[in-house]
Amino acid sequence: MKCYLFYYFFLNNFKSLKKICFSNSGLAISGIQLGIFSNVFFIFKKTFFLFKNSIIVWKSLEKTISKEGCLSLKNKYYSKRCRFIYVFSHNFLNLKKIFLKDFYSICIQHEIDHCNCILLNQVQ
Ligand SMILES: [Zn+2]
Repeated sequence: MKCYLFYYFFLNNFKSLKKICFSNSGLAISGIQLGIFSNVFFIFKKTFFLFKNSIIVWKSLEKTISKEGCLSLKNKYYSKRCRFIYVFSHNFLNLKKIFLKDFYSICIQHEIDHCNCILLNQVQ
């Protein structure tokens, strides 16, 4: 139910959310950043993709270090994250198993952390 609230909110505020994201060099926003406490987030990549009830089912041992920013934080932080991941996630209709690498792997891990109330500055 909360997911639909997020979806409704997102569609009604799509232009302003997209502007907030892009003007801050962001590419994703999670429900929790908008006060909707649900495991749901959107990623913008030409169009937007919904991820709900996402869970990482496999992580590579290989890690990558990168400098990340967050719409909720002023500063950028270095993070060490898995280079490759498999995620189970629902989009609007289906459960999908998605393989992600490098940039999008980092992005999804960042957003899943948000869903678990973990901020970038708490990631080692
Ligand atoms: Zn963030």
